[in-house]
Amino acid sequence: MQSNTQKNNPVNQYDVIVLGAGAAGLMAAITAASRNRSVLVVEKSNKIGKKILMSGGGKSNFTNTSIEFDNFISQNPHFCKSALSRYTAFDFIKLVEKHKIEYEERKDHQLFCIHSSKDIVNMLQKECSASGVEIIKDTDVEFVEVLSKKEPEKLNYLLKGSREYLKKSEPFEVKCESLIVATGALSIPTLGGSDFGYKLAKQFALPLVKPAAGLVPFMFSDFIKPIAESLSGLSVDVEVSCQKKSFKGGLLFTHRGLSGPAILQISNYWNPGQEIVVNLLPDLDASKELQKEKNGNNKLLLRSFLSNHLSKSLVLELQKIWWPSISESSIQDISRKDLIKIGSLLNHWVLKPSSTEGYRTAEVTLWGVDTSSISSKTMEVNCQPKMYFIGEVLDVTGHLGGFNFQWAWSSGYCAGLVA
Ligand SMILES: Cc1cc2nc3c(=O)[nH]c(=O)nc-3n(C[C@H](O)[C@H](O)[C@H](O)COP(=O)(O)OP(=O)(O)OC[C@H]3O[C@@H](n4cnc5c(N)ncnc54)[C@H](O)[C@@H]3O)c2cc1C
Repeated sequence: MQSNTQKNNPVNQYDVIVLGAGAAGLMAAITAASRNRSVLVVEKSNKIGKKILMSGGGKSNFTNTSIEFDNFISQNPHFCKSALSRYTAFDFIKLVEKHKIEYEERKDHQLFCIHSSKDIVNMLQKECSASGVEIIKDTDVEFVEVLSKKEPEKLNYLLKGSREYLKKSEPFEVKCESLIVATGALSIPTLGGSDFGYKLAKQFALPLVKPAAGLVPFMFSDFIKPIAESLSGLSVDVEVSCQKKSFKGGLLFTHRGLSGPAILQISNYWNPGQEIVVNLLPDLDASKELQKEKNGNNKLLLRSFLSNHLSKSLVLELQKIWWPSISESSIQDISRKDLIKIGSLLNHWVLKPSSTEGYRTAEVTLWGVDTSSISSKTMEVNCQPKMYFIGEVLDVTGHLGGFNFQWAWSSGYCAGLVA
């Protein structure tokens, strides 16, 4: 039985093969096919754009209208600049508007679909069909060989793997002139997370910056574990800091530890063994405020006063650890020294995560293929003509807020323009 690919192209040869039908791969494929290149996208799972579908709580935070280069983390912070300026958030918005997808701008310039992230995947699928991109799913590419110069002109790579077809596994082989590696990275294996891009990098002797889970919740093994468990589901607006970086936003207590946007953001800057500092009252100097209340002879219990600023259940948990012996004293009766201490804990709560939840729940993988071996303009491997790396597999990671998709669109576009 012939597969569709074999029927359409009996010799299984393409100008461009894109490995991975995620955000970066699909954008690269559309861009290359619009230049009249024959393009095949090979995807190992049964669906394209799985991460797009799951993103932004099902509404996909597909870009951000205020892209700054310091929203990205990389050993080479300048690497992302060229691609992000060549294909901007506004270029992607134009595409979204062309397809009449309704979207909205939320806090911090983040753009989300109003209806569903399926709109973005459908848009990419339509663009692929319109430009003649072929997509083959359920196909795992396992090897890439460089073809010898004896091969017909322009065929540089042979890809080998296996394909699930009609519930059977069959061998799969294709050849191409240009190979675009868009296989993503290690985060969330059930959504396609894979180390294949790193294996290819190794095969072609490209250096790798040791990857780590990013945008990921923290776990704890100390006193905070039972507190987080009992407050599970509660979200508080805080400021979190680590390594001189700070983020304001929601902190969510979970039955495993801490999550929420501010925690995910700071996880990108945390290394095992380090502490994080949570400011529970970022808009208030708590020590000063409590002393002011004491000076005014406030007769309220500390927990009653703090419940005006923080959720009652959180205040009760804090009381257990910070002022159990004076829990029934009014503010006016608590010593100045104790109020200053409690105030500074509220503004500077030092916590030591035992680990992160790891790749199982990480939204991204930090680090990856070292950009020193890649052209920042075209994403081509410097020492391997016609091989390109794009998207998350590279050592470029965005903050939370649509930056990771914008990196995928921009890097995919740049490779698609030349591949
Ligand atoms: C739950 C979740 C929510 C997120 N929400 C957002 C958000 O709202 N905004 C944002 O900007 N970012 C978000 N991100 C991050 C964003 O999804 C990624 O940065 C982006 O998808 C990376 O795109 P990519 O194309 O490089 O890789 P991927 O999207 O991971 O695509 C890689 C593809 O390659 C395929 N593949 C891997 N190995 C092979 C192989 N050997 N053969 C064939 N195919 C292979 C995989 O199956 C996969 O489909 C989210 C991530 C997650 C996990």
